[in-house]
Amino acid sequence: TEVAQMDSTEAAEQIKKLQKQLQQWAKEYYENDAPTVEDSEYDQAYKHLQELETAFPGLVSPNSITQQVGGHKTKSELPKVVHEVPMLSLGDVFSFDELTNWMVATQKSFIEKLSYNAELKIDGLAISLVYENGKLVQASTRGDGNIGEDVTKNIKYVNDIPKQLNEPLSIEVRGEIYMPKQAFVILNESREREGLPTFANPRNAAAGSLRQLDPLITKQRKLSAFLYQAIDATQVLNVTTQSELLARLRDLGLPTNNTNAVVTNIEDVENYIVSQTNNRDSLSYGIDGIVIKVNRLDYHEELGNTVKVPKWAIAYKFPPEESETVIRNIEWTV
Ligand code: NAD
Repeated sequence: TEVAQMDSTEAAEQIKKLQKQLQQWAKEYYENDAPTVEDSEYDQAYKHLQELETAFPGLVSPNSITQQVGGHKTKSELPKVVHEVPMLSLGDVFSFDELTNWMVATQKSFIEKLSYNAELKIDGLAISLVYENGKLVQASTRGDGNIGEDVTKNIKYVNDIPKQLNEPLSIEVRGEIYMPKQAFVILNESREREGLPTFANPRNAAAGSLRQLDPLITKQRKLSAFLYQAIDATQVLNVTTQSELLARLRDLGLPTNNTNAVVTNIEDVENYIVSQTNNRDSLSYGIDGIVIKVNRLDYHEELGNTVKVPKWAIAYKFPPEESETVIRNIEWTV
């Protein structure tokens, strides 16, 4: 039945089913770093749940997977870190039309014509790094957004990440840990030779490699990083926009991705998406979309967040890659 024709009993039943399925997939993905379905299949079910919850707001539980970051618990063996500023997920869109609607909606709150910073959506896992007087003192994963896992011992084996900044600043920066495509291929080949289960994709391999009790395993895994956020950036770094922030992080010696572009209208965003999509295969790391962020940092505070996502940013997700579609088709016919 279409959502519009459903009564609330039928909707409640469907919601329950979807919650159960999504929780199961999220557990496999986030806790075990071993998904059993493609992201596009997860995204489709998630979107369906969102549609049902929008049509039947009385059926939205605070425990719903749509109301929680990651929807997973931290691995019990690793020490815990509390995120004073929660680490959020991102809202997502799958078409230029949805993206236009989002841009129109954000513009509504402001008289000034907004600029946006367009960035690549790096396919890895979120990381928070704390520097005190320029020295790296703590690294943690996103976890459920409020409580993450302490990976300080592991992070020292991510070569890109400086132990010391170029200035003696005390700051928390956030970004993405990823496994370069080549390192992923080599890792899976060696696991196959050793008869070990292979990783489904570089993102799961990165997560599985960082979240290790034994940091020497992380050392063997060749992880990299891109940073793109700083807490209280305006005060601590004296910057006013997201694009300035990226340049400032680079000056501090942090790895940043330099393919970002400041855009002001939907045509610019579309051009950026098309050119980055065309360039995707030539990158040494995986991306699963484009992130568009309101460029002015003071407007981030004005727009605020939901319990799960910032309202000042959105992810445009790429359609599933052809190889994935082919694999699924084969699965269906056997
Ligand atoms: P997400 O990965 O879609 O987006 C949010 C994350 O993007 C942020 O937390 C950040 O870590 C990252 N990011 C990368 N580049 C960024 C940039 N430039 N700026 C800001 N953030 C950037 O959201 P999520 O909540 O981590 O995961 C949801 C996604 O995970 C789903 O869309 C689905 O595709 C996948 N998933 C798949 C399964 C499965 O079984 N296959 C299960 C659960 C989740």
